[in-house]
Amino acid sequence: MATDTRHTALSDWHLQETSALLELQGVDPAWGLHHSEVRERQDRFGKNSLPNRIRRSVARLLAEQFSDVMVLVLLAAAVVSGLIGEWVDTLVIVIIIVLNACFGLVQSWRADQALAALKEMSTPKSTVLRDGQVQRVETETLVPGDIVILEAGNQVPADLRLLETAHLKVDESTLTGESQTIDKHSDLMTDPVLALGDKLNMAYRGTTVTHGRAKGLVVGTGLATEMGKIAELLSHASVRQTPLQRRLAVFGKRLAVVVVAICAVIFVAGILRGEPTLLMVMTALSLAVAAIPEALPAVVTVLLALGAKKLASLNALIRHLPAVETLGSVSYICSDKTGTLTQNHMRVERVAIPAGGESVIRPFQDCAKEAGLLQLFRAAACCNDSSCNANNQWQGDPTETALIEAAITLGVDKDQLDSAMPRTHEAPFDSKRKRMSTVHQNGDALTVFVKGSPESVIPLCSRLWQPEPGAPESAAVDPRNWLDLAQTMAGHGLRVLALAQKSLASLDTQQLNDQDLESGLTLLGLVGLADPPRPQAHQAIEECLAAGITPVMITGDHPATALAIAKELGLIDKSSTTVMTGPQLLAMSKEELAKQVESVRVYARVDPSQKIRIVQALQASGQFVAMTGDGVNDAPALKHADIGIAMGKSGTDVAREASNLVLLDDDFATIVKAVREGRRIFDNIRKFVRYTMTSNSGEIWTIFLAPMVFLPIPLLPIHILWINLVTDGLPGLALASEPAEPRLMRRPPRASDESMFAHGMWQHILAVGLLIAALCLGVQAWAIEAGHDNWQTMVFTVLTLGQMAHVIAIRSESQPIWKLGLASNKPLLGAVLLTFMLQMMVIYWPPLQGLFKTQALSLGQLGLCLLAAAVVWLAVELEKAWRNRGQIAQ
Ligand code: ATP
Repeated sequence: MATDTRHTALSDWHLQETSALLELQGVDPAWGLHHSEVRERQDRFGKNSLPNRIRRSVARLLAEQFSDVMVLVLLAAAVVSGLIGEWVDTLVIVIIIVLNACFGLVQSWRADQALAALKEMSTPKSTVLRDGQVQRVETETLVPGDIVILEAGNQVPADLRLLETAHLKVDESTLTGESQTIDKHSDLMTDPVLALGDKLNMAYRGTTVTHGRAKGLVVGTGLATEMGKIAELLSHASVRQTPLQRRLAVFGKRLAVVVVAICAVIFVAGILRGEPTLLMVMTALSLAVAAIPEALPAVVTVLLALGAKKLASLNALIRHLPAVETLGSVSYICSDKTGTLTQNHMRVERVAIPAGGESVIRPFQDCAKEAGLLQLFRAAACCNDSSCNANNQWQGDPTETALIEAAITLGVDKDQLDSAMPRTHEAPFDSKRKRMSTVHQNGDALTVFVKGSPESVIPLCSRLWQPEPGAPESAAVDPRNWLDLAQTMAGHGLRVLALAQKSLASLDTQQLNDQDLESGLTLLGLVGLADPPRPQAHQAIEECLAAGITPVMITGDHPATALAIAKELGLIDKSSTTVMTGPQLLAMSKEELAKQVESVRVYARVDPSQKIRIVQALQASGQFVAMTGDGVNDAPALKHADIGIAMGKSGTDVAREASNLVLLDDDFATIVKAVREGRRIFDNIRKFVRYTMTSNSGEIWTIFLAPMVFLPIPLLPIHILWINLVTDGLPGLALASEPAEPRLMRRPPRASDESMFAHGMWQHILAVGLLIAALCLGVQAWAIEAGHDNWQTMVFTVLTLGQMAHVIAIRSESQPIWKLGLASNKPLLGAVLLTFMLQMMVIYWPPLQGLFKTQALSLGQLGLCLLAAAVVWLAVELEKAWRNRGQIAQ
């Protein structure tokens, strides 16, 4: 029976023998826990998760709606009007505030839901041994007693007492702040007072494996982990605003000063003209409340969160909200080759084995089962970390599973090999060395197998494999010849591996270092693996080029392989031979690289740690860089890139943590789709800002200019509040559903530091606002002149309908509405119709007439208001046509 580990001192695990701990936990190290036991422990210990504070309670959301300074000012105004007996005004203001708060509440709630759903989609998984099988399970389900398997790139999912380790290095900086990686082991430790970082036989939740492999026993989960102890602190970290939100907030503050000044002028002018003081106070106040874009950052959050939700449905999971808005600025996409541009479905296609004097490349299918080939694939099966799952499928690195599958077709049995020649030692693969080695007990002796890139393995070989050892002269390796063979294979777009072996007298493997293992080898031959391009990659690359985005391939593969695939994908011309290799990159100074970086489309034999130089050089030349990565060493480049993109399927936890965006399907085409969506979302945010700011400008101009042209104050405070807090909101938000502009991916990327108000936006805001004001005041003057005492209702209606006309006209920045079709954004059409109906109710329905102090309009008067609105629409269409005259002519 397992002991309740929660009640055992958290710090003592390192002092216990692993066998004793396994017994205490009631777990067999070769079998893991039984599923019934897992369930029972889940009930007892709860989920292995830390508190998640994304979802705010409805009460909190509601409180936030009323914490706005402007809303508080308005509430004060409502109280003041109540005190002086204007009960109707108080009621209307309160109703409007409540409606507005409900609207805000629903929006914030939707945003929270979207973000929480995204968070849930990125629930991490871990590899465990349960019911005698290695399984991938959700990290949340881990319980004390589970046996976890760790490999490079994993985030440690719970507190573990290590049972076995192979070159395990862990980065514990998240927990201890120590930036050096720490070598871990599974030996017993005896010092009872050790700091966390010194307990070398433990691995802690939230830290990351940077190198090697290990098996560990879960001793603490959820809040009972070391990370759990500080989780409370972490969960209070504030949510950062996006750059756009910050810019809008700064802008809003500046604008507030201007608006307050204008309101003061209006107030003073009104008093001087002898208007009632209370009316002027309320007018100035309503105008300030309405015209200060306080809600902009909040609405932007809603638009970004909904955008992130849409992106998730396209398989692009956003980890940080700002990435949604910056995606549209991407000008370079640096992508890995394997798995992102290609399918990562490897297949052995060609082989070359030592054959007398001359070795040639042969198609794998045509090869006879000769001894040399069998030995090559025996090595490939032994020096291999793939494992077979319950469904008889091979799991692991696709390069390795392809080798196993090829070996099986030759009749090689991995299980049999593993039991005849058990692995006693290993030097795991890493993308810097580009090779791996394994040591196997072979009777009394040891056999070493080495597998890796030809350049890293062939120079370590001194002879060629022969069916019968002997005749050493003919068996000498000609490295040039073999490297040429590898180059030829790579020229066909194949990933090439060289395999080698050697025998050693039985030694204590602990005494061996990697150099002893990997020298004086016998070359077994070369294997060429095909990995076809992804079906959509070619088209996605074309789309990038049309959109002014430069796609770049960065791979650890051979330059010839990289070039062949890049040509097949249309990334470079068929005649191009320009490829920069990792060693060349290394030899270059910062300045030299900066000069060349914009002309290179293919990088080969680059190890991930060099990617950061490419990112920096591109950024220094003003590019906005998206970079993909999947391994531990990719993390620095991912962090440094403007948009770091991790692979959801094949990526490591470390890469995911360092990224802003996770590709759920690992597909390059998804990046392009995400950029497209990012551009659409940003366009729509701009449209929203254009719409609201022009509405505000229209109101300010109207009220500001009326006294100048000797007209009475055109609108009552409740009219202003009604327009801004109710009728403006719905159509504005419906702009988020606006489909992509037709030429969206035919225009160059937006500069990342470009102002929101660029491309004539602020001129539009001022001029169209002025036009709306002119129409309002024109109608007001005409109505007063003609003796219509419902002139105020007419101004109110012109303003509302003018804004509806405006929102329809700005739906596209390039296309006229008759080309777009009214029904192409149904939510917006619905919002406009609803707003129209609401306005009609306010004008014609007696109870509302009383509240809003309106009077019914005659059909002719309503027609005039509609005509005025049509003028706004026509003017904006003309402005659009004039601005896009170049493109329309195309
Ligand atoms: P890409 O960027 O295209 O995804 P990569 O950068 O991930 O590729 P690596 O996986 O680092 O490339 O591989 C680099 C080289 O190392 C390969 O060309 C191959 O020769 C060798 N290699 C790859 N996988 C293995 C492996 N499992 N065992 C031994 N050698 C390998």
